[in-house]
Amino acid sequence: MKKKLPSFIEIFRSLIKIPTISSEKKIVDQSNKNFVDLLSNYFSELKFSIEIQEIPNTKKFNMLATFNGNRKGGLFLSGHTDTVDFDEHTWTNNPFKITEKNNKLYGLGTVDMKGFFAFILDVLCSINMTMLKKPIYILATANEETDMSGAKYFVKSANIKPDCIIIGEPTSLKLVKAHKGHISYSIDVIGRTGHSSNPHNGINSIEIMYLIIKKLMELKKYLKKKYFHKDFSISYPTMNFASLNGGNTINRICSLCNLTFEIRPIPGLTLTQIKFLVQETLEKIIKKWPNRIFLKNLFFSVPPYEYPKENKIIKIIENTCKLVPITANYCSEAPFLKKIAPTLILGPGSIEQAHQADEYLDCSFIKPTKKIIKKLIKIFCQ
Ligand SMILES: [Zn+2]
Repeated sequence: MKKKLPSFIEIFRSLIKIPTISSEKKIVDQSNKNFVDLLSNYFSELKFSIEIQEIPNTKKFNMLATFNGNRKGGLFLSGHTDTVDFDEHTWTNNPFKITEKNNKLYGLGTVDMKGFFAFILDVLCSINMTMLKKPIYILATANEETDMSGAKYFVKSANIKPDCIIIGEPTSLKLVKAHKGHISYSIDVIGRTGHSSNPHNGINSIEIMYLIIKKLMELKKYLKKKYFHKDFSISYPTMNFASLNGGNTINRICSLCNLTFEIRPIPGLTLTQIKFLVQETLEKIIKKWPNRIFLKNLFFSVPPYEYPKENKIIKIIENTCKLVPITANYCSEAPFLKKIAPTLILGPGSIEQAHQADEYLDCSFIKPTKKIIKKLIKIFCQ
């Protein structure tokens, strides 16, 4: 039975048309309510039951669409509803209107990753749902691009047990089974200014920062030596100094100096361990200069992720869909969703086009993506 949804490209167009920008900047940040309502309408048409969840203290919503929810196991497909912001000076196409040219579909969210829902809907329209014996869950999360609060909030109350979760981030249809995490820091050193002619006039924050950087370099070396993961091309946790700012006038003792840096842990090294190591590394200097060194986390942190080694479902996907598992250098919601079921990342389009001006989906992904989603439904739901 062919169901009554619009065509693939019309659905795709309707999803891109609704702006759903997430941003740390309040003035740019948008609600995803209209987008979630549209998705809910589509999935209701296909006889899914819909749950909409408001993320506390935000104007953002998660949507869970469920088919055969009274049964066990099944497949869980997940995507985020939000996009990053765009720079109108660098975009040559309208971000909210699908432009079709050069065998590409241009638009904000085409690969990262509102387009994924168009694929799911199209495949569901083409199969006989009454034949399915197990559940299909579709999760649409909020705020993936900022603090992942949608996925974090969802797992708190989720009471379902699918066999496998697939997050449709743009992996160029490669099966991603692990990725690194991310944690970033800012350190302020507050010295005391004075005329440069006499060092006793003040406390030079750059000199204290020099000692801090020296210590952090030791930690960087330690992380490289101690931790190793064979599946990653950069097989150890990395540390990057991102910015260093301090001082203003040549004849003044520098009073304020700021450093930002990030660490990208491999699976096997937790965020708690990193926090402990950073604290331990700087403990002596912080004690020596009380109330002058202020360490804080920037933005939000994402733990590293790895598909559980003992779980065999990945083998079934590998064999049936002819995919070879790889690792990735970007983060996803997998470290949170894994609390519900083993999670893999697999989706159309390339990560190279995510967060870029004139984001596009290469149309060569359309056919194979539909084929893979169909196969996944067959594996887990029939
Ligand atoms: Zn994404």
